[in-house]
Amino acid sequence: MSMAELYLAETGVLLFVMGASIGSFLNVVIYRVPLGESIVFPGSHCPRCGAAIRWWNNLPILSWFLLWGRCASCGVAISFRYPAVELLNALLWLLLLMRYGFSPSTFLLLPFVSALVVLFFTDYDHKLLPDKITWPLAGAGILLAAWNSALDLAPGVLGSGTPLARIASALAGAALGYGIFFGLAVTWQMLFAREAMGGGDLKMMLGVGAFLGLGGVVITIFLASVVGTFLSLPYLLTGRWGMTRELPFGCFLAPAALFAAFYGPDLARWYLGLLTL
Ligand SMILES: [Zn+2]
Repeated sequence: MSMAELYLAETGVLLFVMGASIGSFLNVVIYRVPLGESIVFPGSHCPRCGAAIRWWNNLPILSWFLLWGRCASCGVAISFRYPAVELLNALLWLLLLMRYGFSPSTFLLLPFVSALVVLFFTDYDHKLLPDKITWPLAGAGILLAAWNSALDLAPGVLGSGTPLARIASALAGAALGYGIFFGLAVTWQMLFAREAMGGGDLKMMLGVGAFLGLGGVVITIFLASVVGTFLSLPYLLTGRWGMTRELPFGCFLAPAALFAAFYGPDLARWYLGLLTL
């Protein structure tokens, strides 16, 4: 193993452990932010007996298994979602390192993938994509754009890879993501005379566009629409939802955007390469 590989392996272990710890924090954010509660006070406590959770019972991923998914004080079952979110975030952070290596992109995409995890679950639980997550995400995407290689198009296309091209790509991506959803919302309202979706989806796509650019937005919306349509078809056909049922579309956008974060740049480069041959 070369020194470079050793550093990479060490950083991978570090990112996995940190990712799991932050995953623990994400559980708190997912639970408390939609309820308007503080994410700092009080500390973690059992939802039934209120007992404070000691640090040795609060080790990411491990503690749930050590305690067999039960509160150490009262024995109430603790949802498997807690260790699952921790493991998911840890894996996503590790995958980012494997995909982008030792580059600024790896580190600036860490909060991006974690925010997508949070948005998936708040939308699933409450059909809510909180402003407290979507606005900072969009802002961070624009601010960090100059260092973000996920925004690059094919080499040689429109100054691809330069800070200016990346900032332009982030702004264009945010505008496209917001614009498409704004257009959909207006169309839906004209057709069915009711609001199609909350503004949350629009603001979420601002952030996705700011981090992943035009290509990422197109891939995200395409994937989310295909999977969303496919999965909701049985409900629509059997009339169980009717047209009034509001889809938690963020639950489809979040995994689609994750896919785009890992494979979007390659797909965009491959596609543009075909065009410029
Ligand atoms: Zn308890």
